[in-house]
Parts: sequence; C-alpha cells; structure tokens
Amino acid sequence: MTSPVQNPYRLLPSVEQALSWPELKALEARVSRTLLVEFVQDALADWREEIRSGGLGADDLQARLDRGEFQAAVAGKVTLEEGRGLRRVINATGVVLHTGLGRAPVHPEAAQRMGEVAGSYALLEVDRHSGQRNRRDDRVSELLSRLTGAEAGIAVNNNAAACVLILSTFAAGRETIVSRGELVEIGGSFRMPDVMERANTKLVEVGTTNRTRAADFRAKVGERTGLLMKVHTSNFRQVGFVEELSVEGLAALGRELGVPTAYDLGSGLIDAGDSEALRQMGDEPHVGPVVESGIDVVAFSGDKLLGGPQSGLLVGRKERIEELRKNPLYRALRLDKVGLAGLECTLELYLAGRADEIPARAMVNRQGSEVRALAERLAREIGAIGGMEAEVAESAFQPGSGSAPGVFLPSFCCRVQSDRFSVQRLAGLLRRSDPPIFARLHEDRLLLDPRTLFEGDAASIVAAFGALARKAD
Ligand SMILES: *Cc1c(COP(=O)(O)O)cnc(C)c1O
Repeated sequence: MTSPVQNPYRLLPSVEQALSWPELKALEARVSRTLLVEFVQDALADWREEIRSGGLGADDLQARLDRGEFQAAVAGKVTLEEGRGLRRVINATGVVLHTGLGRAPVHPEAAQRMGEVAGSYALLEVDRHSGQRNRRDDRVSELLSRLTGAEAGIAVNNNAAACVLILSTFAAGRETIVSRGELVEIGGSFRMPDVMERANTKLVEVGTTNRTRAADFRAKVGERTGLLMKVHTSNFRQVGFVEELSVEGLAALGRELGVPTAYDLGSGLIDAGDSEALRQMGDEPHVGPVVESGIDVVAFSGDKLLGGPQSGLLVGRKERIEELRKNPLYRALRLDKVGLAGLECTLELYLAGRADEIPARAMVNRQGSEVRALAERLAREIGAIGGMEAEVAESAFQPGSGSAPGVFLPSFCCRVQSDRFSVQRLAGLLRRSDPPIFARLHEDRLLLDPRTLFEGDAASIVAAFGALARKAD
C-alpha cells in the first residue's frame, strides 16, 4: 500500500506535546521551564529550517523522531547552557599570563581571602581599633610603599584605568607629551592615542619613531603642558639605531620645569631578591628602580608578572597620588573588596619573602627538568591510549600578556597526534571536556605544555584523552 506523501511539518510535535515527553520533563531539573520552552522552540525552528531548505523529508523526520533525536537535540542545548560562563579551565598552552584564560592565577592564600570577603562582611572602610571610617586603600598604600619604596600608592580596576586616571587628573584640557616611539597599542582595544583623546588630553608627539631625546621634550613644553608621559613598549622591542629618554631623564626634566611626570610600566615586575624568574626576563624594567628614578607616578598591572588579581597599581610621590585619589573618576575606577583582599594578600606574600610561591612567578621559574618529567609522564600515559601517539619535544615558552617581548625560554612539551582525529578536532574535544582543557596547535600537532599545569591537571588531561578515545569507538 502506498501512503500519500506526508507533510513533514505535520509530524513536528507542538511545544506542549514535546514538553510532556518524559526525557524533556526530566530536563526541568537542570534549567528553568522558561529556558526549556525556549530550547524546544529553537529545536523546532532548526528542524523547520531543514524541512524548508529541502534537507529533511517526512520519512527521515519520522525516523529521527523514532530514534529520540528531538529530545537529544534539546538535551544538547541544555548541556551547552550549563557549560557557559566563567569557570576553571586547565591551561596546557604554557602561556603563563594568558589574557584569554584570565592572566595570573592568584596564590591559594589570596584566593582564600578573596572567597572569604566575597561571602561575608569585611573590614573595607572602617578602622577596627577606633571604629572610625577610614580609606579602603590605606593598607594597600602601606604595602605598596614598603614593597616599591614609593611614598604612597592606590589601586584601580586595571592598568588601563590607571592610565585614564593619570591623564584625566594631570592633563584633562591640557597637553600630554609622549615620545613617538612609545605610542603603543596593547592588545587591540587599548591604544595610547585613543585613550588620550577620550581622556580629553591633547597628545603632543615628540622625537622620531626610533630616537627621542630630552631636548625634544623640552622644545614642546609650554603653558598648556599638563603631563610628560613615558610608556613602556611592553609587547615589542626596538633594536638598532635607537635612543629613548630614560625615566631618570624624564623625571629630572619634569622637576626642573615643574610639570608632572608619569610612567606606564605595563607589567609589574618586582625584584623579590632571589628570583631566577627576574633574571630570565631580559631587560623588563623593575618597579623599584623606576620609583627610585624620582618620577611622580608609576602605573602597572597587578595581574601580569606581579601575579595578583586584576588591578592597576599607581605608586609614587605622596602629593601626586593624593591628586589621583581626589579625582572624582577614582570612585568609578577603584578596586572592590574582593580584588583588594587578593591584592593585599599578594603584596604581603612578597613582603614575607614568599614571592616565588606566587603561581605566575613559580611557573616562569619552573625548572626545565621538572617540566620535562611532566611532559614525559603525559607522553607515556597519553601514548598508551588507543589511537593516540605522543612524544616529548623541545619547545620555547613566553611569559605572555605582552610581558618581556622577544623573550623565549627553552622548555619541553608533550606533542600529540591521533590517527582518528584531526588536531583541530582533538583541540575542540578537549575544550569541551570538564574542566575545559586548552592546548597549543603547532605544525599539525597538539602541544601540551606542562609549565602552566597545576597539581592534578596532568591526571585530568590523561582522563580526558581516555574519554574522547572511548567516544571514537
Ligand atoms: C598591559 C598594559 C596595559 C594595560 O593593562 P591592563 O591591566 O590590561 O589594563 C597598559 N599599558 C602597558 C604598557 C601595558 O603593558
């Protein structure tokens, strides 16, 4: 008997019908009813689109329904929803300060303090001895002074905010003089000339791309000058016929002419005495000597080589820091209690001589032999999984986030390929495991760099490979 050709649209369930199916009812435990309705409507729209474009006829559609594929499609949307948003990931890229993965992981003690104040009340703006109101950044100022030798310090949301606060405080409606060689772009959305425009300061460029001297600055200083600014070329290096005005030179010029001076240092590399990491960082400037140069204000990130939570730190001469603090914008840019708690704890670790326990520094410092042993373990255990081939390879690593450009330090990684998956597919599956795993792709191989792994991560990676290999069977 030949049945008349069915209209495939008629086979689609109504939203109400679909929601009454037990598999979909069960999903109500995982997402709200409103969202579930939305997902059912989305799945119906997907299928209608397939019918409309001619890719799905009545017979195929009926077969899919019989196999429970509609329920599976909705369940897939629920699973995607659950995997969205901020969560912990495993960083196997070897990039210590990976902007996409949240830059510096804080020390466990800092993380603990951040968690405690987040879920509770905290001593944010009261003095516990007098009971009087105090300033939220008194403690951070004290710690920054002890650590950098500056007279005072404050903390804002990030280093970009620190730059905006400097420009707005000293040079709004006035001119800011900067060397042509230092008009940098940091990560796409932060270009010094654009920031200056928005901060309502007129950019006056001096010198040439490769050479700028004190005389170039001096020639442009006038009535309308608000600020002399220096910007660290964090993410590139100039070599060859190059000359820049030193920070000491800029500080001296500012003092002589009575104009405020500031240095955007980018990464806050602090000399903690004994650190191997520092020596590996080439000529990345240290905060201490820059402060000592006598420059009025130094700005740097709290979550680059300093290894703390996202923040921008401003240290320098007391009167100048006070001017920054009095700017009404400070209120909009300042750090919250959670960030402050993590930052205070990080700075205390430095002062306690425990800087090299801070993960970002510890990872940069990690010995080649230790990294190699971990890479060997990964290669051995992943290589034992069917369909996977793994070996140890020499590699190089960079600190990342535009810190120490051109610095590539020798290291080791585990190189993986599979006869079942392309490396792109492998990388995609790893990102979708729980917790998500991020690796590097290079010359059609997947590279797992143990430098940025925490304890337990290697075992999770091996387990993820095991799970995805089983999926392929
Ligand atoms: C990284 C960097 C910035 C931006 O700092 P964020 O903390 O990302 O806001 C600004 N200037 C320089 C020189 C930098 O290296």
